[in-house]
Formats: sequence, structure tokens, C-alpha cells
Amino acid sequence: MIASINPFSGELLKVYTAISSKEITEKILNADVAFHVWKKIPFADRKNMMMNLSAELFRNKEQHAKLITLEMGKLLTEAFLEIEKCARMCKYYAENAEVFLSDKQIETDAEKSFIIYEPMGVVLSVMPWNFPYWQVLRFAVPALMAGNVCLLKHASNVPQCAMKIESLIHDCRFPENVFQTLLIESDKVAEVISNPIVKAISVTGSERAGSMIAALAGKQIKKTVLELGGSDPFIVLDDADIHKAIVNAVKSRLGNAGQSCIAAKRFIVAEKIQEEFIQQLKAKFILLKAGDPMLAETQIGVMAREDLAVELEEQMDKSIALGAQLICGGKRVKTFFEPTILSQVKPGMPAFDEELFGPVAAVTSFNTIEQAIQLANESRFGLGASVWTTDLPKAFQIARQIEAGSVYINSLMKSDQRLPFGGTKKSGYGRELGQQGIYEFVNMKSVLMN
Ligand code: NAP
Repeated sequence: MIASINPFSGELLKVYTAISSKEITEKILNADVAFHVWKKIPFADRKNMMMNLSAELFRNKEQHAKLITLEMGKLLTEAFLEIEKCARMCKYYAENAEVFLSDKQIETDAEKSFIIYEPMGVVLSVMPWNFPYWQVLRFAVPALMAGNVCLLKHASNVPQCAMKIESLIHDCRFPENVFQTLLIESDKVAEVISNPIVKAISVTGSERAGSMIAALAGKQIKKTVLELGGSDPFIVLDDADIHKAIVNAVKSRLGNAGQSCIAAKRFIVAEKIQEEFIQQLKAKFILLKAGDPMLAETQIGVMAREDLAVELEEQMDKSIALGAQLICGGKRVKTFFEPTILSQVKPGMPAFDEELFGPVAAVTSFNTIEQAIQLANESRFGLGASVWTTDLPKAFQIARQIEAGSVYINSLMKSDQRLPFGGTKKSGYGRELGQQGIYEFVNMKSVLMN
């Protein structure tokens, strides 16, 4: 059974029966048939379908956004932004995929040599609930434009979103079965991976899920892209525009109720301005209006599941027991977690070493730039980072030394369809988005002619 539960009210919205092994095999066979049709469809037609998808998302954004909020509890205003972002990304790949995947001539000693890009076939995606449309489409849109077909195993708490995305793609007149949702629990993923028709796997989720899936795929010599957790540093130098840093710290840490892979999680702040930074952050945190995520006036919603909120509470409590200081917040009622600030956070505490996937900001101070860089890199994750300073040459030097897939200077860390996105270290490997993202699920074939 896969249940859809409203995390704000606790209401059971819908229950689905997970599909059987026989149904999984049928769907994979259908995907294979669809692949042989889809890969021959010209780019111009793929482009039209993708533009339909973009237009449909814009047109019906309210319906899609409400479903997201209902099922995983993010603010409706944030769900709208998620749908609009998906629509823009569909348009981007609709307009650019053909150029990205056109044959590229390379000068060699031969008469002619070039690279051609061919789809891999049926690709499985295993996706998280935190951006239930964006994460799925971020993988599927470039994969489809490249001629692949997609299977989706979505997180078990967002089955309605999973089914809606499948019907949405179908309604935009893509051929039958180019995108199918598999309503399965995680114990069936191994079965899908071992099917020889499935050629590659894209995972967005926790380090644990990524490692287990990559191990299964590795055994079968199947390619994986892993977009995993993060504990992004937010480095504030003493010459930073503190107002700007605070506004973005609040957005970054509390957006999506703190449940974003690239949320700023560790605030590494110059000792000289630490007290001012904490007091200004606290002033913003305590004023936020909590409540029903469907209401426009609500500024901080609920977490997606109670077990996730309990886990966060345990990480916070352990950190406090190890010497972190509670500045504000710290209380939890079911799925609601108060916006919380911990100061004096140090390596060795869960708030520093682990990913805090909820609205808890961990503040650590530094005295020298070298110390700030060392603290930023003292993490097993390496997804994103941001640096806040008015000294841009210095910021650029720092950016070069940060172990992360992206570093944003004086800017909120967020993905952009035009830039490659992904991690280093335990945050995973491979890239999504941009021109680079579309090459992950293609066979780059070198052809040489004399
Ligand atoms: P999760 O528990 O790892 O789940 C992600 C997906 O993996 C779900 O579909 C889940 O299915 C499946 N899964 C879990 N364990 C599995 C296993 N052993 N074998 C096969 N499949 C398995 O993560 P989450 O709680 O949904 O998402 C939060 C995590 O995702 C955070 O760490 C966050 O940083 C990361 N994330 C990363 C990015 C990025 O771009 N790097 C983006 C968003 C989120 P079930 O739901 O059925 O368990």
C-alpha cells in the first residue's frame, strides 16, 4: 500500500496498491516498445510536445501547485514557483536540445571525424518528495528530448504527484508509454534495475539510497547519476552587506520548510559580526507566521512527514547536548518544527557533520579566511555553497577553494536550467541541467572516416 497523507492535517487522502512484479515487467516491456518509436521521432516533433508540456504547466499551475501542497506540505506560493520553474525548463530544452545533440565535427588526422549522440534507451529515475514535480522533470525532460524513455519510482509519500505527472505527459500528446510511473516501494527497485531493458538510473535522494542503488547498478554495469544530500556552507565575511546576507539566509534556510538539498545549512560567520548576524537572523525567524500551507498569509509551513521532523529533533537535541547553544525555536508539534537557530556549532556535532533537512540553522564562527574555507570543506558533502562579501576578487579566490558543485557569490544558491547542477564528495556525481545535463543519458559515439 502506498498512502498519500496531508502532512498539515494528517488526513489520509488516497491509498494505492503497489504494482506486482508481473506488472513491473509489463511496464518495462511497454517502455522498450515505446523507445523504438520515440527515438525515431524528429526533434521538431519532440520540441512541439515539450512546448505543449511547458504551456500546460503554465496554464494549469494552480491545480498542480495545490496537489504538491496537499501531499507534501510546502507553501502554496512555493509550489507555484516550482511549477513555473518546471515550465521554463521544458521550454529551455525544447528550444536547445537539437543544437546540444547535433553532430559535432572534430579535427583529427582523418578525412572526417565527428561525435554523434544517441539515446541509451529505458532509464529509471528514483526521486524524492521535496520538489515532487521539479526533481522528476529535471531528469525526464532532457532525457526525453535526447530520445530516451523514462520510468519513475517516486517517493512513497507523493503518489498522487507521480500519477499526475504521468497523465500530464500523456495529455501533452507524447507517444504512449514514453513516461511511466511505477507505483512501487523501494524494495522493488533492485528488480527494475536488474531487468536488462533498463539501461541506466538517475537517483535524487539521500546518501543512503544513492549508495544502495549505485551498488546495485554497478553490479550490472549500468550508468548512474546521483544527486544526493548536502550541507551547504553559507560563508559571511566581516565586510558583507549584512542586510542582504540575512534576507537570503532566511530564504535559503527556511524555504520549503528547510527541506532543500541546496539550502544553506551551516552558517560560517566571521567572529567580528557573529553576534549581529545571529540577532538579525533571530529577529526574522521569530516573526514568521506559521500555519496552513494553503493560505497566502502563511510564511512557514510543515515538514513533509512526522518521522522526518522527529529525526531533525534528535539531531538538534544531540548537538545541544554536545555544546551547541539554542538561540530560538527548538519546539516541534507533529510535522511543525519551529524555525530554529543553534550557535557555537562545531565539527563533531550532528548539526555540523550531518544534513539538517528542516528549518534549523547551525552557526559556526571563524577568525581567518583560511579557517572559513577549512570549515566549509570539513564536510562529507559537496553540493553547493555561498559566499557573502563586498570584496569580489577575494570571493572568487574562496570560490575556487570550496569543494562543491556550485558556489554562488552574494546570491541565493538555487538551480538554473542554463547551468549544470550536481555535487562532489557524498553529494553524488554527474550533472543535471544545462548543456552538460543532456549528455548524461546518451551514448557519445565517435565516428571517424577515411
Ligand atoms: P530518500 O529517503 O533517499 O528517498 C529518495 C527516493 O529513494 C525515494 O523514492 C525512496 O523511496 C527511494 N529509496 C530510499 N531508499 C531506497 C533504497 N534502499 N533502495 C531503493 N530506493 C530507495 O530521500 P528523501 O527523504 O526522499 O529526500 C531527501 C534527500 O534527498 C535529502 O538528503 C536531500 O538533500 C536529497 N536531495 C538531493 C537533491 C539534489 O539535487 N542533490 C535534490 C533533492 C533532494 P521511498 O519513498 O519508497 O522510500
